[in-house]
Amino acid sequence: MIPFNRPAVTGNEIAYISKAIASDKISGDGMYAKKCEGWFEQSTSCEKALLTPSCTHALEMMALLIDISPGDEVIIPSYTFVSTANAFVLRGAKIIFVDVDPHTLNLDIRHLEKAITKKTKAIVAVHYAGLSCNMNKLAMIADEHGIYLLEDAAQAIGSYYRSKPLGSFGHLAAYSFHETKNITSGGEGGVLIINDASLKSRAEIIREKGTNRSQYLRGDVGKYTWVDIGSSYLPCELQSAYLWGQLQKLDAITAKRMSIWNSYDRAFRPEKKRWNVILPEVPSECKHNAHIYFIRLSCKELRDDFINFLDVVGICAVFHYVPLHSSIAGRKYGSFWGEDINTTNISDTLVRLPLFYNMRQQDVEKVISRVRLYFDGSR
Ligand SMILES: *Cc1c(COP(=O)(O)O)cnc(C)c1O
Repeated sequence: MIPFNRPAVTGNEIAYISKAIASDKISGDGMYAKKCEGWFEQSTSCEKALLTPSCTHALEMMALLIDISPGDEVIIPSYTFVSTANAFVLRGAKIIFVDVDPHTLNLDIRHLEKAITKKTKAIVAVHYAGLSCNMNKLAMIADEHGIYLLEDAAQAIGSYYRSKPLGSFGHLAAYSFHETKNITSGGEGGVLIINDASLKSRAEIIREKGTNRSQYLRGDVGKYTWVDIGSSYLPCELQSAYLWGQLQKLDAITAKRMSIWNSYDRAFRPEKKRWNVILPEVPSECKHNAHIYFIRLSCKELRDDFINFLDVVGICAVFHYVPLHSSIAGRKYGSFWGEDINTTNISDTLVRLPLFYNMRQQDVEKVISRVRLYFDGSR
């Protein structure tokens, strides 16, 4: 069976973890955490990067940092992972779901503007498949209305919009290092990217259980004490050591994924019309990171049939998000603005193909040939 995903392993992870253990400092903010945070600060030119135990935790920190409270509204696409919503619901926000654009599968900006009210506190841009939202327009809209622009860049490490890395546009942004993402910190992990300098010192406090311990460790204050609300949002040093091994190989990982993505695309694009399928579209101002290659079929029945067929011939392909606005909690904590023209349709028709760093060329070719067999074969 060709799996849908295998977490990337690049070779240095174990050595770095051993070094971390030998250093006798395996709690948060050790040597490897600093290295990783420095890497993000350099690559995104942000004010501060703070590693977190997951992207979900980084999103929760965002909600705390922008003081989300009951009555606030947060606008997000319905076609996303549950944490994009939950992080804000936990602080009492009402979620306003908007439809996605059928070409990019990202939040549809035309609806967004109309969904903004006096209660809107933030927009969360989700870069689906590592493909950028239109960040120029989003930044303009957020600015005009005086609301926060946040990036759920969970899938977007190594992606760019007009040559600027995703994660560098919002007031705050977050990447995920869950094992299903392009790089991982040993299964779970994330980072909060702080681009708005005014949020920096409070972020350190929230992350350190509401204390000013970070200032104390830098020698800025003589003792540390409880100064604000907060929690424990530090990953342990073993996670950071693992991540450092992966960050050093990010270019190679992205390049390998891109070559698989391109192999799929070269094989399928010429057949698009004949097979009656929709393939990913990449706007010219976006450079994506090959996080996902998908094929969309014309209806749910065909999509399920396609996934079953691939399963029978030894390939694990999977669908993606069930729209949040129609889920049990989504109905309770949010509402959909306008009409759901694309979200449910995309959810019903999309299939993701296997795509991972250590995927063998022969397996890539097998996927291509079995997809061809499904559409062209004698079935
Ligand atoms: C994976 C993902 C998350 C959650 O990341 P974790 O690190 O697992 O918490 C959030 N949002 C999106 C869009 C994701 O793809």
